[in-house]
Amino acid sequence: MTAPGPAPVPVLQVEGVRKAFGDHVVLDGVDLRVDSHRCVVLVGASGSGKSTLLRVVDLLEDVDDGVVRLEGQDVTDPRVDADAIRARMGMVFQAYNLFPHMRVLDNVTLAPRLVHGVGREEAEERALAVLDRVGLRARAHAFPDQLSGGQQQRVAIARCLVTSPRLLLLDEVTSALDPELVGEVLDLLVELKAEGTTMLVATHEMGFARRVADEVCFLHAGRVHEQGPPQQVLDDPRDPRTRDFLRRLV
Ligand code: ADP
Ligand code: MG
Repeated sequence: MTAPGPAPVPVLQVEGVRKAFGDHVVLDGVDLRVDSHRCVVLVGASGSGKSTLLRVVDLLEDVDDGVVRLEGQDVTDPRVDADAIRARMGMVFQAYNLFPHMRVLDNVTLAPRLVHGVGREEAEERALAVLDRVGLRARAHAFPDQLSGGQQQRVAIARCLVTSPRLLLLDEVTSALDPELVGEVLDLLVELKAEGTTMLVATHEMGFARRVADEVCFLHAGRVHEQGPPQQVLDDPRDPRTRDFLRRLV
């Protein structure tokens, strides 16, 4: 019999993170772990701290206390190179944030060229491959405003994927879309999950959470009140606050 090896290092580990804006405590001791190839979904009412947590992970906000580790490295240490850390993650926001004056292809090649120092030809090759992946290779030379909201959001996801991030952070990526465009974006995320992409996702789409989440975390007033498989948290919640939140959704 061989001895079990050391436990693999989680892609993301959040330990005791606290964050206040003035005297408003927004994250109040959050612990969270995302292992490789896993999808963790953050749910909770508006204002519960989901976006702030994602922004802390992406080093867009400092923490007041606690630690964030990316592949074991403490990235909240002020001595780390935040840009280099951020280059290992991809973040997609509710508003697609494409550069409107740049063609789709140029939006997607920007990070590989500027952040990762990849030459134009190779960057375009990679960009076309990921655009193909999200079903938009034929629109590579369009400008963002020539695309639907769902297509723009798929370009925003392609823009992240092109740098092969270790962790994909997605903040309510379907909330700004017309209802008929939500499905194409969620379907893409389902495919990414099936391919083994490691993801931390804030969403109000409970159907999506049921389909892809390995774990659902319910946030309320900056604390994780309940976490576990979607069947447990969404269908058989133990915490009265989770039950109350879910009841309000229907
Ligand atoms: P969620 O994404 O779950 O809706 P947020 O993380 O956006 O929640 O916000 C949590 C709380 O933090 C809210 O009360 C919000 O008003 C507050 N907040 C977020 N960002 C800031 C900021 N930059 N300055 C002050 N308050 C903020
Ligand atoms: Mg938010």
